[in-house]
Amino acid sequence: MPSEFELIARFFTRGTSHTVLGVGDDGALIAPTPGKELVISTDLLVEGTHFLADADPEALGWKTLAVNISDMAAMGAQPRWALLAAVLPASTVDWIEAFARGFFACADSHGVDLIGGDTTRGPRAFCVTIIGEVPAGQALRRDGAKAGDSIWISGKPGRAALGLAHLQGRTTLAEPQLGECLAALHRPQPRISLGLALRGIASVAIDVSDGLLADLGHVLEQSKLGARLQIPNLPVAGLERDCVLAGGDDYELLFTAAAGSDSDIAALAGKLQLPLTRIGEIVAGPPGELVLRDDSGSIITPACRGYDHFL
Ligand code: ADP
Ligand code: MG
Repeated sequence: MPSEFELIARFFTRGTSHTVLGVGDDGALIAPTPGKELVISTDLLVEGTHFLADADPEALGWKTLAVNISDMAAMGAQPRWALLAAVLPASTVDWIEAFARGFFACADSHGVDLIGGDTTRGPRAFCVTIIGEVPAGQALRRDGAKAGDSIWISGKPGRAALGLAHLQGRTTLAEPQLGECLAALHRPQPRISLGLALRGIASVAIDVSDGLLADLGHVLEQSKLGARLQIPNLPVAGLERDCVLAGGDDYELLFTAAAGSDSDIAALAGKLQLPLTRIGEIVAGPPGELVLRDDSGSIITPACRGYDHFL
């Protein structure tokens, strides 16, 4: 096992492309682009809670950064810099090397510089702080929905949760669905291009990490509005339906936009080669109330809305 400083030098120190001073000093120096606001967010991944002890280290490295980049997508921001605090047991060098490979693959695919962090021995956990930029006043927030806005979701929600259910033996998936669900679980793709394209169009955006209904619930609370949902092709019942409605970990974007933008958003789906599905509308009615109907128009009461670490 190399020393802390050898680990940092060997695995977490790389050239930067837009940073004044990166890893190695007491603090990093960045020069924000004039006219932009900085968007800053942090996320923890803890073994046993967010990933299993036998998780593939390369996929875990990817996901550790991807979930943070996803928060930038949900703000309409361009991700720029990241810090990584790592708590590591006496891991093998191979494990850390693979983790770093996955982490930097994700960093490279979104132009993110790793500019610092902290490394200590202990039960495995990772905390990334991410910094992005957005033109002043243009960030996509959770509190801007208006009655009459359409509600949209990107991609195919529920796949990560379904993949996890398969791994836990609660269902058995077959190819090609199995491969798609495991990819969604292990290698989530942050929707940065979508987030950037939604600036000036979306009234609200949030990334789905806790579950579609739970995250929509956060939007409704902050916007003090209700919603009517009718999700096209919602699975009729059972685990698949629960995964779509309440499955976490998808990192798709849920957003709202004025109904007049419906055709622009449909066109955007083609341009980004990403499904964008209209799943309902925001209504004035009781703040936080969410009425969900199936394809035939009957009201459904879901078993659960999503994930809460403290329930
Ligand atoms: P300090 O004693 O000032 O906290 P450290 O010895 O912890 O500094 O870290 C030395 C340098 O390495 C710092 O620039 C820090 O930001 C960076 N660093 C430490 N751990 C990591 C990591 N896991 N990833 C990236 N940079 C790291
Ligand atoms: Mg330190």
